[in-house]
Formats: sequence, C-alpha cells, structure tokens
Amino acid sequence: MNIKYYGEYGGCFVPEILMPPLLEVEKAMDEIMPSDDFQNELKDLLANYAGRETPLTFCPTLSRELGFNLWLKREDLVHTGAHKMNNTLGQALLAKRMGKKALLAETGAGQHGVATAAAAARLGLRCTIFMGAEDVERQSMNVMRMRVFGADVHAVDSGTRTLKDAINEALRYWISNQDSTLYCFGTAAGPHPFPELVARFQSVIGTEARKQCLERFGSLPDAVVACVGGGSNAIGIFRGFLDDASVRLIGVEAAGTGEPGSFNSAPLNLGTPGVLHGNRTVLLQTQDGQIEPSHSIAAGLDYPGVGPEHAYLRDVHRATYGMVRDARALEAFQRLSRSEGILPAMESSHALAWVFDHPDELPKGGNVVVNLSGRGDKDMDIVKKYLGAVYGFADAEKQEA
Ligand SMILES: *Cc1c(COP(=O)(O)O)cnc(C)c1O
Repeated sequence: MNIKYYGEYGGCFVPEILMPPLLEVEKAMDEIMPSDDFQNELKDLLANYAGRETPLTFCPTLSRELGFNLWLKREDLVHTGAHKMNNTLGQALLAKRMGKKALLAETGAGQHGVATAAAAARLGLRCTIFMGAEDVERQSMNVMRMRVFGADVHAVDSGTRTLKDAINEALRYWISNQDSTLYCFGTAAGPHPFPELVARFQSVIGTEARKQCLERFGSLPDAVVACVGGGSNAIGIFRGFLDDASVRLIGVEAAGTGEPGSFNSAPLNLGTPGVLHGNRTVLLQTQDGQIEPSHSIAAGLDYPGVGPEHAYLRDVHRATYGMVRDARALEAFQRLSRSEGILPAMESSHALAWVFDHPDELPKGGNVVVNLSGRGDKDMDIVKKYLGAVYGFADAEKQEA
C-alpha cells in the first residue's frame, strides 16, 4: 500500500482486519479509475443523469451591494440537491467495475445516505445505510427517500445514537461483507485512500469552475470560498485552483451559537492534532484525547474532525479557514434568497455569510466565487423554527403548541 499523507496528516490508522478491503479500493483507484472507459461512463452519468456541468451564476444585486462580482458555482442543481452525488456516482461506478454487488454507507442527517441510495438504484447495486437511531427519528423524510430508492436503512441504537456510532457499525458490517460490498465514504476524510478518492471525484467542481471563470470574465477569480464539514465540496473546488497562487482559497467552518463554552464544528480553527476515523487530522478533543461533541445549525457541517488535506493546506498557508456562527448563516440564507432567488443550503450559507461579513478583505471590483454546495429546501424546518416570525409563522406555531 502506498499510503498517502498530506504533510503530517492523513494515513491509514485502522485495525488490521480492515486493510484488505482498503487495499482493494486503493488498487481500484489506481488501476480502474484512470481508464478512458471508466472516465467516459462517469462523464456520461454526471452529464445525463446528475445534470453537470453546473452553471456559474452571476449575482447582480449582491455584486452591486458588495462592490465586487459575486459568482456562485451551482452544486445545488446537482441531482438530489447537493455536491454529494458527484462522489456517490463515482464510488458506485467503481464498485460495479470492481465486481461488487452492494454499497454500504453511514449517514448523519441523511443527505449522503440519499445520494448513495440513488446512485445504487441507478447502477443496480444493493444498498445498506447505517444511521444513528436519534437521526432516524429526526430525519424521517430522508429515511423515507432512501427506502423509496430501495435501500436498507438500519437504525443504530448504541452510544449517542448518532453519526459516529453509525460509522462504527458501518465499519463492522464492512469487515464481514467485504467480498460483496464497497464502503461508499461520504466526505474527503477517513482512512487512506478515501480522502484522495473522494477529492478526485469532487474535483470536477473545481475543473469546471476554473474553465467557466476564464470563459465568463476572462481571468481567474481573486478568491474561492466554500464551507467545510468533512471538507469534500471545499477540496473539490479548491483542487481546480491549487496551483494558481493568485487565487485565495477560503474555507468556512461552523462556529455554532458562538456563546462562551458552547459546542462548535470548527476543528481547523479551534482543534488540535489527533486521530479520528482512520486518519491523522485536527479534531475537537479534550486534553486527554476524548472527542468532543460538535454543534452546528447545519447538519452537514456537524462533525468534530475534518479531512486531512485541509489541515495541511492550512499549515502551509495555501488556504485560510474562517468561522461563521449559526445566526450569521441564517441571515445569509435570507439575504441570498431575497436578493437572487436562490435558496442556499444552511451549510452553503456559512460560506456566503463569511463573504457578506468580510467585504473589506475581498478586492473591490474583483471576482469572488462561492461554492453553493447544496439547496436549502431540506432546511425549511430549521428556517421555520428560527425565522418563523419573520415569515409569518409565529402565530401558527403558537396555536399548535
Ligand atoms: C454534506 C454537506 C456539506 C458538508 O460536507 P463536505 O464534505 O464538507 O462538503 C456541505 N454542504 C451540503 C449541502 C451538504 O449536504
């Protein structure tokens, strides 16, 4: 195995029994994935099933207000509503070419589960999803979507009954079903080769965005901004610009409520180095190495770790990472919706909020690209909960109570 490190981060810290299936994935990544045959079929799926390429949308109203040109890379328009499908289609196709019959995935809020279940249905693979029992209750509509696509959804009742317990259970399942099943990992983290595999599938975002910038405004952008949960949409767009030193790369983490002592999801800003889910990265942990609970209003950002490549890009100063609180993300959600007629996912709203809150750090008259990782339709419950009064729902909620 040629284990990949990003500076001092990355690697493959797993029990011996997981090495054979990981080796098999690495081999497929190196031998099957680069072939013309694989790339052509993936390209066709991305274009004619998932809806790529996604537009680069100019925002006229906000650009006037901000003093620079704001462009959105529209991953919200990818089939199932977010960038996640770029990865699940890639891994589903890889599984098929490896001779596997089934996909396995963990999911927190359910977005990755839905994208995996859809890709499995499309490619004729069975699909097993592990989800914390708590999340199954909170996200019943996504559970329904997965089941409608034909997936087997298992509620995990151990531990805190959330994402990390689902990951443990998924890994246990993979150990006993590795001959038939590929673990479709959901973000650019986890043990080698997943950070590299997922980054390569998501790099289609950056490749398209770079070409579109040159076509639309005749130069590279001054800055590229993306939200960071595990880091897959951010690394996907960053990879298009890593070698362009003039392009500032800005990742945005979730600061939670911002109250003293409260939880957050900002390990690049507030964490320390450690090992989680098979890789060395930066983590939210106590002084003796216990993982701390994370919190964000955006379920997709709610993770105590981050992909190892982001920790490396931070250390070598190629990318910088800001933080945005829940309340600012909610304001950005309202502002984009009202100004441009686009509902951003609560995750993507963090990237927008950073741009809205730091106009002085961005060049007047320049071009700024924000990766709009997903659509906000899934977040209407949260919007109603926190902004109900703004949109005339306060009375309705009171009546129900
Ligand atoms: C899952 C998700 C994210 C966070 O995941 P990354 O791996 O950091 O990209 C961000 N935005 C949306 C819309 C998501 O569904």
